[in-house]
Amino acid sequence: MRVTALGSADAFFSAGRGHTCWLIEDDKGAYAVDFGATGLMALKRLRFDPDRLQAVHFTHLHGDHIGGWPFLLVDAVHRSHRTAPLIASGPPGTRDRLHALWAACYRRAAEKPLPFPLTVHELRPGESAALAGREVRALAAQHMTPPDIALSLRIGDIAFTGDTGAIPDGLCDGARLLCAECTYLSQDSDRHLAWERLRKMKLPPLMLGHAGSEVREAGVKVCDDLDFLEL
Ligand SMILES: [Zn+2]
Repeated sequence: MRVTALGSADAFFSAGRGHTCWLIEDDKGAYAVDFGATGLMALKRLRFDPDRLQAVHFTHLHGDHIGGWPFLLVDAVHRSHRTAPLIASGPPGTRDRLHALWAACYRRAAEKPLPFPLTVHELRPGESAALAGREVRALAAQHMTPPDIALSLRIGDIAFTGDTGAIPDGLCDGARLLCAECTYLSQDSDRHLAWERLRKMKLPPLMLGHAGSEVREAGVKVCDDLDFLEL
């Protein structure tokens, strides 16, 4: 298994890095978790064929996590002429939001059916589904104000924080790896809990983005764009 940080920054492109996006290649194929505005560009830099993506799982619907969706679709429709099925998942509201984003960017294309099967699954916290051959479990993340819902995700034995608030109970139980954003790895007292808990976990967490020297310690890999880990 290979886990690549396609984008390793926060919403602000900190340190000149891309929006958050993870690429996971395993024995079943490949999927992405979140797909910020720079996701497709990063795939192209890797020379990774976007049509190989079986699924894109969104933790929440902020722009830095979904902004790359219309570019993924326009590449599939107008360049590669994708025929392979694609699965998307995310919190309630994902289906409408993804379509609105697609229509806002490419109105004419969005008026036509896609040339490949797209299935969108909406998951509430506590729900799970078998998607593209992998068990996807949604946990409540402390990031958005109701009715908007943010998720942390557990996909197989890999855990994803979404944006880093406190890590949900159970997210990392038995996980081989935690892929964590680091927007809130600051001195803010509420959010600092996330980092304090990360430090105690017997996991090799991948850290996104602009973390400073305070996270340079054993078991923590601070990622730049396109950095990867083999498991
Ligand atoms: Zn967010």
